[in-house]
Amino acid sequence: MKRILVVEDEANIREFVVINLNRAGYDTVEAASGEEALRVYDEVGGFDMVLLDIALPGIDGLTVCRELRRRSSTMGVIMLTARTQEQDKVSGLMMGADDYVTKPFSPSELVARVDSLYRRVSVSAGKKGDAPAGEEIMLGDFVLNLRRHSLTKRGREIELTQIEFKIIEYFFNNPDVILDRSDILDRAWGDDYCGEEKIVDVNIRRLRMKIEDDPSHPHHIVTVWGLGYKWVTV
Ligand code: CA
Repeated sequence: MKRILVVEDEANIREFVVINLNRAGYDTVEAASGEEALRVYDEVGGFDMVLLDIALPGIDGLTVCRELRRRSSTMGVIMLTARTQEQDKVSGLMMGADDYVTKPFSPSELVARVDSLYRRVSVSAGKKGDAPAGEEIMLGDFVLNLRRHSLTKRGREIELTQIEFKIIEYFFNNPDVILDRSDILDRAWGDDYCGEEKIVDVNIRRLRMKIEDDPSHPHHIVTVWGLGYKWVTV
């Protein structure tokens, strides 16, 4: 069963989300606060994805996102944000969210975004850890294992979300080639994705924090102004 944790303090919005996800074939578990979300996540378990409102009383959605990412790097996380809170979207993605949906949203928009991320999450489910070592791409200090979805730097494992893995896989298959944002978006999120291109920039920032020695002066993922990004091998 495709199980989603829905975290939203406003009962009418939560109900609207749950009804539409159930109709689309998802099993949902509800939480009305950040505290409840973390408790339910630990007690119920088996979640493939979380829909997480940012503005929650008590522990806010950003903190919940960071806590959930500590528990799972591979689960899908979509933040629910208010239209005016531009900074919230960026902060949410930096905390490890894969995507965001802006309120108010239509049922079809919500389900499309959930379906799109769910496909990415489920494709790689179960591959981590238990799979035998498979095909690898080595670039300098880095080894990307395509079967296990793992990345190591000088032998140390770097935890990646599913979207981050897709981006790194695209870079590693195209070293020293300039990749533009819309290609990265198509590759990592799927060409059916209907969100904004700037989500790519935030994911790149987050990846740099994980892989670069000095994220503010990146040596691996380099910005090529006006064109896109490039993985530099030397
Ligand atoms: Ca709220």
